[in-house]
Amino acid sequence: MSGLSENFRLPVACPSCGSHLMRVSQVKNPDDKVFCASCSRFVCLYHEACTVLEQGPCSESEALIEQAVNRGDR
Ligand SMILES: [Zn+2]
Repeated sequence: MSGLSENFRLPVACPSCGSHLMRVSQVKNPDDKVFCASCSRFVCLYHEACTVLEQGPCSESEALIEQAVNRGDR
């Protein structure tokens, strides 16, 4: 893991701390993990974050993030 990452704002808040600021590697591969910038919790994969950014803050976006977060716990 390199330190090359950048922050971006997600319409859906981090399920742990409620922050909207997320961190992803600068490479931004679709399968790159997106972490909360404030508590470093896994939130989703980058391609999922892109979907959420396109959809905006709606129930579908929240459901997608919730599923991704639960998956990342394993
Ligand atoms: Zn957080």
